Amino acid sequence: MQFNGRSKTRKHGALLDRPVDDDSRCKGCDGACCRSFPNVDLSWSEYEKLKALGANRLHFSLTGHHKLVIENGCEFLADGKCAIYEHRPDVCRRFICRDE
Ligand code: SF4
Repeated sequence: MQFNGRSKTRKHGALLDRPVDDDSRCKGCDGACCRSFPNVDLSWSEYEKLKALGANRLHFSLTGHHKLVIENGCEFLADGKCAIYEHRPDVCRRFICRDE
């Protein structure tokens, strides 16, 4: 998985088996991953949770492939940080970037 944030450094990303909380890389970043993908896959419970939190860019799917659309920047990204960090979806919890 590759993505380009605002920095000129090309980065790679990976979904880990476990959540990554308060990683030092995230603390020094302005949310490049939250602006670099079209969407985040959601479970039904995550869909409901984000809806309750006021999400406006949710995509409901009858096939169960619900998504939070983050194209051009996630609506929960505020000042380069996740405004719903404690409630962020599993994909966001397990994603980590790596420099190329
Ligand atoms: S929910 Fe939070 S961590 Fe996930 S893409 Fe949006 S701002 Fe980033």
